[in-house]
Amino acid sequence: MEKSCDFLIVGGGIVGLTIANELLLRGCGNILVLEKEKNLGAHSSGRNSGVLHAGIYYTPDSLKARYCIEGNRLMRDFCRENGVAISECGKVIVADSEEKLEGLEALQQRAQRNGVESYFIDEKELADIEPHAATFEKAIYSPSTSVFDPLGVLEALYSKIEGTGKVRVLFDTTFVGKKEGRVAHTSKGDINYGKLINAAGLHADVVASHFEVGLRYRSIPFMGSYRELTKKSSHLVRGNIYPVPDARMPFLGVHFTRSTSGRVFIGPTAVPVLGRESYGFLEDLGLESFRFIYRNASMFMSDSGFRANALSEAKKYLGRHFYSEAKKLVPGLAPRHLVSSAKTGIRSQLVDWREKKLVMDYIVHKEGDSLHVLNTISPAFTSSMSFAKYAADMLLEEKAAQTQ
Ligand SMILES: Cc1cc2nc3c(=O)[nH]c(=O)nc-3n(C[C@H](O)[C@H](O)[C@H](O)COP(=O)(O)OP(=O)(O)OC[C@H]3O[C@@H](n4cnc5c(N)ncnc54)[C@H](O)[C@@H]3O)c2cc1C
Repeated sequence: MEKSCDFLIVGGGIVGLTIANELLLRGCGNILVLEKEKNLGAHSSGRNSGVLHAGIYYTPDSLKARYCIEGNRLMRDFCRENGVAISECGKVIVADSEEKLEGLEALQQRAQRNGVESYFIDEKELADIEPHAATFEKAIYSPSTSVFDPLGVLEALYSKIEGTGKVRVLFDTTFVGKKEGRVAHTSKGDINYGKLINAAGLHADVVASHFEVGLRYRSIPFMGSYRELTKKSSHLVRGNIYPVPDARMPFLGVHFTRSTSGRVFIGPTAVPVLGRESYGFLEDLGLESFRFIYRNASMFMSDSGFRANALSEAKKYLGRHFYSEAKKLVPGLAPRHLVSSAKTGIRSQLVDWREKKLVMDYIVHKEGDSLHVLNTISPAFTSSMSFAKYAADMLLEEKAAQTQ
């Protein structure tokens, strides 16, 4: 076990690896990445929809909007240059009823404000792009949305940075706590560091708490599960078909995505779960589960968006309800076209506990020699390469902390 490094990154997901890469590009070296799992992509970075988002949804002043657009371009180029599978198929957002038109208009206005290329298309144009999708009068077409292989990106990036000899990823090594001075206590011994970057995804709030950072936030993990179209019916979807989402929530609604392997996934749902890594029934339950129950109950009582989401998502456990939601986007869908899928992911969603509000944006906070990246919810994969520049700026140029 190394005893010292200039930069210690906690978390070997996409956020940790892209920050390591950015530090290398700026001439830094002697970088260690702690990854508690034995392999890459065990959590969000290997368990997502694999969509390179265009930047349509996010409020113009948000970090999401600021880094998604450039991040999309950088990740697309990285895939092209490194032989990672990417399908530049675009996406449509459809209105399943007249009531959704207002939401569709608002999305298009937001896309324009964010400088994202997107167009209104009519039903005939929609039929040319997605022959089996339906919309009420018009839809949005986003040409710069792509689908890529997230695990392929992680593997290519890992090889690239480890190949320099200046970065080492220590698998199966957990950050346990902080000791006096710049010393991290890990499951494999202590490490002295110059600067520490917390990119621990679902556990970033716990790591931050060792530095007295982000104490106003609480985690509520939200599980996303998927179903799949059978091979025979996968022709029903060519690219991405999305609904108009509930603007009060940071989720995009159950949608269709044709992965780079040709499999068509439908999801993800957004159901609160009782463990940060509770991917299966009764998995990762413990004392913290009681805290999650309490937090969910408090949010249910105090936030109307949270309440509406909880009620509608709970119904999606029923195959019938999931199917009827999906059928609104693709009317020709029949129950026999859907099969269950083992694919699941959990979002590292935080709540601002003082305000009792779901946090909609990423949170970045610099505290002395440590930088903490919290609430890395979607589209943090898309944003990561652009966001890493901002993180490196903050770390190296002593820029002021953005939020806490
Ligand atoms: C269902 C779902 C669908 C999504 N779809 C998309 C999408 O289509 N497009 C998109 O752009 N984004 C999407 N996202 C979001 C995206 O996947 C995440 O924003 C991104 O992967 C977050 O990366 P991360 O590095 O912060 O977290 P992670 O990938 O979770 O990485 C953090 C790493 O830190 C490690 N770790 C944690 N604690 C410790 C510790 N104490 N010591 C050492 N290591 C530790 C973990 O093992 C983990 O590997 C989706 C997310 C989900 C859940």
